[in-house]
Order: sequence, then structure tokens, then C-alpha cells
Amino acid sequence: MMRRKLVVGNWKMHGSTAGNRVLLEKIVNGVRDYRNADYVVCVPYPYLYQAQSLLQGSNVMWGAQNLCATKDGALTGAVSPAMLVDFGCTHVLVGHSERRLQFHETDDTAAARFHAAQEAGLIPILCMGESREERDSDWTEFIVGRQLDSVMRRYGVEVLRRAVLAYEPLWAVGSDNPATPDQAEEVHQFIRNRIARCDPEIARQVRILYGGSLTAANAAAMFAMPNVDGGLVGRASIKAEEFIGICRAAN
Ligand code: PEP
Repeated sequence: MMRRKLVVGNWKMHGSTAGNRVLLEKIVNGVRDYRNADYVVCVPYPYLYQAQSLLQGSNVMWGAQNLCATKDGALTGAVSPAMLVDFGCTHVLVGHSERRLQFHETDDTAAARFHAAQEAGLIPILCMGESREERDSDWTEFIVGRQLDSVMRRYGVEVLRRAVLAYEPLWAVGSDNPATPDQAEEVHQFIRNRIARCDPEIARQVRILYGGSLTAANAAAMFAMPNVDGGLVGRASIKAEEFIGICRAAN
């Protein structure tokens, strides 16, 4: 089965209205003719309106980097799933390692956000990955399996029909040390096999992205692996040429 490739940019906490305009216009023009893959940019909340204004009508979708699992209420500083939908978001990151490490997110809170996103009609992108120490101790499958199960156990394998998975080894995110294509493929295969034990058809169709120090130079080799269905891109997503180059590799 041919899964359509997907490239997701994660701007993290970067941007300004002036800089975003230049970047988004370049991306729209750069990927206009790349019709064989899908593209998303996940921008900081304050720029969702700008992303909506500049991207609607293009072949680039937009989303957020987090969301609150609660519908509404007395939750100062939080952003609800419906608000993201209100600004035209299609996707939202859930459980990014920077959220887990710096904002005390757990498998439980990530699973709750995943579910809330889907209930609102958003496509959650569940981020999973092991630390360097965990890999060195041979715990990669245990950690990634637990992160995947946190969603599958609670909500059932069916929810993966409308979700994206991202394997992001912590040692590769924000480093200059991407996983090798073989290292990524091995874990992607593990993830797909684990899903296949519950539902082979869903396992075949779910997209599993790789994230961690992807660049225009290394993306094509990564995307050539049979179980790598695209990329989640941090630093290279705020450089127009780099991001467009990664989108070209996916296309
Ligand atoms: C990320 O933020 O999800 C990421 C993969 O970062 P980078 O590409 O900068 O390693």
C-alpha cells in the first residue's frame, strides 16, 4: 500500500508577524506544484490567525503545537480544541518531547489531549521517542510501546484511523545527530507491527513520521525507508529553503 507522505513543520517558540509573512509566502510558492504529498505547519498560538489568512486556498495546512484537553472553563492561559478549529487548524501536536520534558506532560495527559483533539475534529500527531539513556539500555521498544499503548489502551486502535504518529528519538531532536534511516525504520516497523496485532488494516494505513534533525540534505534517504511516511521538522521548518527541500523529497 502506498501511504501518501506528510511533512509537518514545528516552529516551536519562534516567529514574528513580519518574519512569518515572508516565510509562509515562500513556502506556499515553493510547494505549490508538489501535489503528491501533504504539508502542515504548526505555529505558535498567536500566529494561527496569520497562518489561516496566508495559507487558506493553498496546499499547505496549519495546526498548533499543543492544546488543552478540556472544552472550556476557568483555565487561565489554556487554549481549547474548539479554538484551534475556529482558526482553521487541521492538525495538532500531542506529547512533543519538549512538552513532556519541560512542561511535565505525561502519557496520561498526552492521551487526554489526543482524545480531546479528535473529539473536536482535529488530527492529533502523537509524538513518541526514547532518550539516549533509554536507547543505550535497550529500552526503546518498551518506552515507545508504552507511549503508543497510552492511547490504544484507553481509546482503542480505531482512533488511529484519524491520527498521525511521530517517532522522535529525544537524542535526535534539536541535536545535530539524526537517527540513521535504518535506526528509524527499525522503530517505525516496531510501531506498525504493534498496531497490526490489534488491526492489520489500520496498521497499514497509519502514517508514521520521523522527527529529529531532519534537513533538506538527509530527508530523501529517510523518506526512502518503507515505513517512514514523512517527517516532523523543527529547526529546518523555519528556514524556507530547507523546509521546501524536505517537502520536495516527500513529493
Ligand atoms: C521537533 O521539534 O519536533 C524536531 C524534530 O526538531 P528538530 O528538527 O529541530 O530536531
